[in-house]
Amino acid sequence: MLTSQTKRTTDTADKPTKTIQITIKPGICVGCRICELACSLSQKNLFNPQESNILVHITETGEVELEIVQECSCVGGRAYCAELCPVDALQADPGD
Ligand code: SF4
Ligand code: SF4
Repeated sequence: MLTSQTKRTTDTADKPTKTIQITIKPGICVGCRICELACSLSQKNLFNPQESNILVHITETGEVELEIVQECSCVGGRAYCAELCPVDALQADPGD
């Protein structure tokens, strides 16, 4: 029996993955969390920050910290987090 997840289709479903190195530019991020949604959608076809490979943390003093959870293997070789960041806080480079 198919689950709700396996029934889903995306335009990235059959595209190969590629390792990408994400560099966080210091002092630019405004904490909008768009990158979390972009990542979870591109990787898991879900809008769920808990499924994102990039996490946004807001400290008690209001500072924003970004965390890359694991090596990025982005669908189609595109870093959607960096492409959709409104302030260009992320730089994406091909990995090894
Ligand atoms: S490069 Fe891809 S896998 Fe890595 S955080 Fe960005 S969207 Fe997610
Ligand atoms: S890295 Fe960009 S998209 Fe992600 S929270 Fe910061 S400003 Fe928003």
